[in-house]
Amino acid sequence: MTTTLQDCRALDAQDPLRALREQFTLPEGVIYLDGNSLGVLPVATAARVAKAVNEEWGQGLIRSWNSAGWFDAPQRLGDRIARLVGAAPGEVVATDSTSVNLYKALSAALNIAREDAPGRTVLVSERSNFPTDLYIAEALCKERGLRLLLVEPGEIAEALTADVAVLMLTQINYRTGAMHDMDAVTQAAHDAGILTVWDLAHSAGAVPVDLNGAQADFAVGCGYKYLNGGPGAPAFVWAHPKHASRFWQPLAGWWGHAAPFEFSPDYRPAPGIGRFLCGTQPVLGMTALECGLDTVLAAEPMGGMAALRAKSLALTDLFIELVEARCAGHGLGLATPRAHEKRGSQVCLTRSEGAYAIVQALIARGVIGDFRAGDGGTHLDILRFGFTPLYIGFEDVWQAVEHLKQVLDSGEWQQAQFSQKQAVT
Ligand SMILES: *Cc1c(COP(=O)(O)O)cnc(C)c1O
Repeated sequence: MTTTLQDCRALDAQDPLRALREQFTLPEGVIYLDGNSLGVLPVATAARVAKAVNEEWGQGLIRSWNSAGWFDAPQRLGDRIARLVGAAPGEVVATDSTSVNLYKALSAALNIAREDAPGRTVLVSERSNFPTDLYIAEALCKERGLRLLLVEPGEIAEALTADVAVLMLTQINYRTGAMHDMDAVTQAAHDAGILTVWDLAHSAGAVPVDLNGAQADFAVGCGYKYLNGGPGAPAFVWAHPKHASRFWQPLAGWWGHAAPFEFSPDYRPAPGIGRFLCGTQPVLGMTALECGLDTVLAAEPMGGMAALRAKSLALTDLFIELVEARCAGHGLGLATPRAHEKRGSQVCLTRSEGAYAIVQALIARGVIGDFRAGDGGTHLDILRFGFTPLYIGFEDVWQAVEHLKQVLDSGEWQQAQFSQKQAVT
């Protein structure tokens, strides 16, 4: 029996996480299935940022670096992020963008790997990784005369050979939602003498992560997706404590100095993860990110990431069930693995044509997901829907599928205005 609207309302009524939705400002009439790309605005953020502007900046001026906690924000926020990704206090800093943090972490990993084994000259990643990750890796390889080897997910195990220095992977694929087993892949890499760099852009705040449990080497992640930090929020970086102090990172700015206010002409890196800071931090962005982190940590008394994950799986299972039952015959396929342990918090549908226009027609109805062009392999375009259990409910899922069904049944998506491409998809 297919789940009914009444069933969904009952599930919402019984949902122990339901109250967490009150933390967010969701626009009227919108079902937001894009929290994997830009998280929703928390209620607390506007007033908190206004306070940082009017009081801390406006009145406190330069004194606020000390009195308002501006200076240690990267570490303070890093400690909160650590709770979500299985790291200890003092092991994470919030700073810079994911792309920049990846450059620093990958560079450090390559330095360590090549000092320990100079003959290792290959960096391995996945062809379907997010492009910025591949571009950063390509640039680093070019700079250092190394080779970047890109493989398919099923080819990773055989690519872990004696000439590989570092394996760089994004745990959850941005396009399909497929998830790697971090424990098993890290173990396989280590068995072959290879260091691992993990991108947690679609993992942090979406699935339980245990960096120390997996014995991973380096990780980076994003502040504006499931952490609800706002557009362009600072990202984060983690290094295993055994690696954090081994090398300078390449962007050796004064904020990563052991004593920045000595104004010494010589660089002396801060111990541990602090050296991964570069220059003056974006305080207003940090302030908004702190509010975003609070929304995720608010789930801790209700079971934290494990409880959020259980709800996320229930939401995505329901979405798959309803799409297959109610939108059958419309040429939709499923790009996301069905097995729970193999997927993140998004569901990606495929279609050979019209995916962009269908997404636009849904957005016009207030159901916000996004479109990703198919890769060379399948030519199937992707309709991507992210499910953030902090603010998405079971009835939202039912209504989203109802809209999708109406858009397909009526052929509404074929109207000309829905196929005009915009700059950001
Ligand atoms: C979202 C995302 C990024 C974003 O990088 P920015 O530097 O914030 O633009 C990077 N990598 C992956 C895998 C992502 O999903």
